[in-house]
Amino acid sequence: MSHVAIEPHGGKLINRISKNVDIKDLFQLQINHELANDVENISDGVFSPLEGFMCKHDFESVVQHGALENGLSWTIPIIMDVDETTAKQIQKSDVLLKTPYNNIAILHVDEVYTYDKKQIMDKIYLTNDMHHPGVQKTSLLKKFLVGGKIDYLERPYDTNRAHRKTPIETRAQFKKLGWNSIVAFQTRNPPHVAHEMMQKTALVNHDGLFINPLIGKKKTGDFKDDIIIKSYETLIDLYYSNNTCELATLHTDMKYAGPKEAIHHAIMRQNYGCTHIIIGRDHAGVGNYYKPFTAQQIFDYYQDLKIKPIFFPTFFYCTLCLSFTNSKVCPHDVRNHNQVSGTNLRQMITQKIIPSKYIMRPEISKIIIDHKDPFVD
Ligand SMILES: [Zn+2]
Repeated sequence: MSHVAIEPHGGKLINRISKNVDIKDLFQLQINHELANDVENISDGVFSPLEGFMCKHDFESVVQHGALENGLSWTIPIIMDVDETTAKQIQKSDVLLKTPYNNIAILHVDEVYTYDKKQIMDKIYLTNDMHHPGVQKTSLLKKFLVGGKIDYLERPYDTNRAHRKTPIETRAQFKKLGWNSIVAFQTRNPPHVAHEMMQKTALVNHDGLFINPLIGKKKTGDFKDDIIIKSYETLIDLYYSNNTCELATLHTDMKYAGPKEAIHHAIMRQNYGCTHIIIGRDHAGVGNYYKPFTAQQIFDYYQDLKIKPIFFPTFFYCTLCLSFTNSKVCPHDVRNHNQVSGTNLRQMITQKIIPSKYIMRPEISKIIIDHKDPFVD
């Protein structure tokens, strides 16, 4: 069967990796790890069709309407914030973006502008409650935003890069494997057996699975990145058939923006070459800010995405069904289900109690329990 690749979002895969750029005499600006990740994602085309940080028109349109100025769906602002002193120094100039380790990119400043944080909270996060981690982060943004295209120079130092791949690389790999129908799985947790069974159910009708854990700043109590990576490496090695599953890490921060972030997660996976994405109950949510199925319903309003969402009911092991099943199929009372909440699982791990093999593979439990410090502070 011949290989047919899905179009990137907006039709063109962006590549802003540059060579032979003159960086002499440029204004230098240190950026944090999170912004450095965004710069790299822009340059690699993970955020296609974006070629840089958003200028005011795109920013306003994304916040107000969930679309770029040209009408293409886009739900999360990709922005770079600077303080007032910097804002005055970099108007309409080329700026060298640096990390503590190297020069990573040139930003061709097109526009420096002010913006309304409250609008971001109301329209993207749908709340201005400071307990929401995305709202809190928004409140800490500096006073000005800078828009302009990126030219990428050199990848920064980063310890967790073993599985970091560009859309060019993942698309080449899908082609090599002959996969046409590829299901993305977004995660920020080590796998429960129920996740594994859901993924394998998706594999019945699709060619391959793209497990794409999100690596980056998370909230207190979330699992650390190295646990998520190690546990998926182990799971794929021991429990997946050859050539059915690819693992790559996505280096961007969780926003916890629920429905709006579900769309953003889908767009990034389309750019990686996936045709489908599993969207769970309360996808990218936190606390009780979003209704459980809003992240699924929102896809009705974003019809120009080529990637298609797959919605699954909750999976679990049922002692009467004698199998892993789900809330749609199993008629039995929840007393017969082997299920544990995230909070309870955390407590068990803290107390070094190994969860049942129907909850978590013993090899995965061991990785977590042996870790000296498994949770984000
Ligand atoms: Zn049952």
